[in-house]
Amino acid sequence: MTLTVQPHRESVGLKTGQLYIDGQWGPAKDATTWTHHHPATGEPIGEFAVASAADVDAAVAAARRAFDGGEWSNARAGVRIGVLHRFAALLREHADELRALQALDNSVPLSFGGIYATSVGAAADVFDHHAGWIDKIGGETLPPYQGGDHLAMTFREPIGVVAAILPWNAPFLLFAQKLAPALGAGCTVVLKPSEYATFSVLRMVELLAEAGLPAGTLNVVTGPGDPTGERLITHPDVDKVSFTGSRGVGKRIVEASAGTLKRVSLELGGKSPALCFADAPNVGLAAATTIGAVTMGLSGQACVANTRALVHRDVYDEFIAAAQGMAAAITYGDPFDPGVISSPLINERQLERVLGYIQRGKDEGARLVCGGERLEGDLANGNFVAPTIFADVENSATIAQEEIFGPVLAVVPFESEEEAVRLANDTEYGLGASIFSGDAQRVFRVSRKLRVGTIGVNGFQVEPHLPFGGFKQSGLGREGGRSAFEAYTELKTVLMPLTDELM
Ligand code: NAD
Repeated sequence: MTLTVQPHRESVGLKTGQLYIDGQWGPAKDATTWTHHHPATGEPIGEFAVASAADVDAAVAAARRAFDGGEWSNARAGVRIGVLHRFAALLREHADELRALQALDNSVPLSFGGIYATSVGAAADVFDHHAGWIDKIGGETLPPYQGGDHLAMTFREPIGVVAAILPWNAPFLLFAQKLAPALGAGCTVVLKPSEYATFSVLRMVELLAEAGLPAGTLNVVTGPGDPTGERLITHPDVDKVSFTGSRGVGKRIVEASAGTLKRVSLELGGKSPALCFADAPNVGLAAATTIGAVTMGLSGQACVANTRALVHRDVYDEFIAAAQGMAAAITYGDPFDPGVISSPLINERQLERVLGYIQRGKDEGARLVCGGERLEGDLANGNFVAPTIFADVENSATIAQEEIFGPVLAVVPFESEEEAVRLANDTEYGLGASIFSGDAQRVFRVSRKLRVGTIGVNGFQVEPHLPFGGFKQSGLGREGGRSAFEAYTELKTVLMPLTDELM
């Protein structure tokens, strides 16, 4: 029987998506809409407004008025803390509904939406964590260096109007990673969700208003990169762009920021390596963890997934056999079925892209261990690709260098620690890495040499309070913890004479 998710639209009460500007929900000025097709079934799921340049202008103007008005930007710390904690509580209360909306958006299965990194609970924790910083965003008081008797004080002040642009793959966590520190710092925001994960984000925006966020503080423009995103990143009255998405769009944002020297934070892609040494405590578990991150849940459409496995020759065959066994256990289908643990690719463009990379892998001489094709039968209308493992891959090969964003693992053998580090760093990206080893000294030695933002040892997990971001072309700046507040504030210095003598 052909798969359908239509009955679930009614059960979650999916509404037509509207823009949210200055506290009011409404259609686009020119009434343009986008129809979202479900990635697992190809069915039309719902429609939402496509914000034109005029709508984006209205949203930015509302955010500017709200910022200058000061109701939020000058609010007492206690007011902002209260709103963020209330929103975190509402997120937890509505977790099941949000998870179902996400399954309609991007087909991340309910089973996986309960795993921490993609869960509503993680987003709630991010809001709670950042609420705790709000009354601690202080400056310093510094003594005179020369001149008269004076003090210098530094203040951290909100950066202004922030354009926050989200990808589609982890809407809960990424919404939280941007909005919790931006709002916590006192900024006002124009948010653009991905056109492939809009409905779950719009529901979170409703809940944030319910938590007491003043009108105009958060404005939402839905729609694709062009026209909606382009107008936002080039808008002269936006002070900062905070973006999570692909490297190509990240570069475009840097270019577009030059006109008004906007502040820019970028969380981009990766080609993160798993380094499995011969002394790994459990090679089978290392292989299962690695292939699991590339196939379960998001089907490899995760920025920090270890899509390159660098494996010592002594445990190479064991690693590949265990990874192949795990790949065979991945289940696909209806995201509302609790037995389904993975998802399709987000759209047909991405499906074609991934199949193109698989062909390239074969053409470049890598050994296809398993997968490599679309799933057919009941799943033929969806964008499903079988878990794919390539062995004996040259690290210089296209599939070992480029972010595929699909269920494809490239396994590269190595013989020495030095070679493993060289191969790991031989990429334009630098988002994350995993080290599988039972030798603590080796783990620290290698960790210090890897040019990446986050390293997991014998595993990997997301935490709300840890800085996260990339070296090299994986991004600019960090989200999470104190560093996130630095990204949404400007540092101001005030010189205060203590006597009437000239300084
Ligand atoms: P994408 O770059 O295609 O789109 C991201 C967002 O940018 C969407 O909202 C899109 O509409 C918008 N956009 C597209 N063109 C634009 C333009 N010209 N101007 C302004 N906005 C524009 O990425 P995606 O397919 O949604 O997400 C996948 C990418 O995101 C991968 O590269 C992945 O690695 C990356 N990602 C990174 C992190 C991280 O934290 N580092 C997390 C998740 C995803």
